[in-house]
Amino acid sequence: MKPARAYIGIGSNLDEPIRQVRQAFEALGHILSSGCVARSPLYRSAPVGGPPNQPDYINAVSALDTGLTPGQLLAVLRAMELARGRVRAVRWGPRTLDLDLLLYDQLVIDDPRLTLPHPRLHERAFVLYPLHDIAPSLIIPGRGSLRDLRTNCSGQGLIRLDSED
Ligand code: ADP
Ligand code: MG
Repeated sequence: MKPARAYIGIGSNLDEPIRQVRQAFEALGHILSSGCVARSPLYRSAPVGGPPNQPDYINAVSALDTGLTPGQLLAVLRAMELARGRVRAVRWGPRTLDLDLLLYDQLVIDDPRLTLPHPRLHERAFVLYPLHDIAPSLIIPGRGSLRDLRTNCSGQGLIRLDSED
């Protein structure tokens, strides 16, 4: 069967976030029945929501071709978060690693345990910018072109890091 193209959003703001994101890229490249096809540059952003005075986030996006179902892939992402010591304490609170399934082909799922496309993807510059870097012509089901969404989301204080950082 033809693999699906999935996009994974990566975020970290604890315990050396740049290292966390790089390790996540590496781990995402070893998922069963899947292969990494693209990695975005890293971005630094101020936290949105959650408790005050959190450290800045480092964000990136990875593209995978996968034979896993969306549910299987989400379970793997959850296990990877746990392996990095993520504790689910405060909603939108600081975390060592957050892995979100952003898109799975053009699939639409309306279930709180797994919503596709990811329910906040279209309003978050820290997702739209790195996603656009690796897949500029994407259409987000129900939301329109990634290019337009990104333009509407400019100016959220996002900084793209140089690859040597
Ligand atoms: P957030 O990523 O918004 O900061 P969490 O990582 O704590 O928040 O996720 C909260 C819940 O969102 C999880 O229990 C998960 O089941 C659910 N969820 C729904 N859709 C998705 C998706 N596309 N990717 C990841 N988690 C999702
Ligand atoms: Mg998440």
